[in-house]
Amino acid sequence: MEKSNINRRLFLNKAFTASTLSILPINSLDGLFSETLDPPNLEGKKILFVHGGWPGHKPKESQELFVPILESEGAIVSLSETLDIYTNEEKMNDFDLIIQVWTMGEISTKQFKGLSNAISKGVGFTGWHGGLADSFRGDLGYQAMVGGMFTSHPGGHKDFDVNIIDNSDYITSGINDFKVTNSEQYYMLIDPNVKVLATTKFTKIKVNEFDNPDFIEGIEGSIIPAVWKKYHGKGRIFYSSIGHHLGEFNIPELFEIQKRGFRWASESKYHPYENCIIPIYS
Ligand SMILES: [Zn+2]
Repeated sequence: MEKSNINRRLFLNKAFTASTLSILPINSLDGLFSETLDPPNLEGKKILFVHGGWPGHKPKESQELFVPILESEGAIVSLSETLDIYTNEEKMNDFDLIIQVWTMGEISTKQFKGLSNAISKGVGFTGWHGGLADSFRGDLGYQAMVGGMFTSHPGGHKDFDVNIIDNSDYITSGINDFKVTNSEQYYMLIDPNVKVLATTKFTKIKVNEFDNPDFIEGIEGSIIPAVWKKYHGKGRIFYSSIGHHLGEFNIPELFEIQKRGFRWASESKYHPYENCIIPIYS
């Protein structure tokens, strides 16, 4: 694909909505990119939107919500309701980004290999909540590729805060901490080398019927990554654990993070490799 020659100023005016402007001054991203490099964008990008799995996370509605937004930014979107698309090497290598909304379910060895190979060659991979990090619980290779996995959402549906811990990254630059109400706060197991952009802290939890009280007993004060980025081979992977209800994307900060995550992950083939290995142990 030819690199977009969209004017940087035009891009910024187009990409940031009025609600976003209150979050981020329009010039504040300029320092993050060289004069010759366009900021991440979806103009002309080929995106595969794969949806299925557990219906409680509204896979079809997710597609209906996000596809028009992606198209409004210039993306060319293909849809799939089956994981078999992952076995089509020619088609997979032609995409710039795969967005997956597929909670639980199973992925075959052949499907996973096709997905993994495409990403390692430079196709981005992204999603949110259970659609990316509670998929295919039986596949360790998939979980390692994503960089983390869901374990539980202690306390059921509750209010919690999301704290931005990296203000220099394109995805979270200029974004404020925000609150999520009546939703699932994911307790994740993650690869400690991924680049974490936002976290969430567990406060005192009211145990509900799905919780293991022995586990809940010891987690008050725990800080768990909520948003991260990494590479798998040459492909960019972006994940956010928020979004049990699609209405949560009405939170301007979350909506902006998710859109920037889509844009960033779509640029594996066009932007230089970034170091996303940020070990937390020395
Ligand atoms: Zn959920």
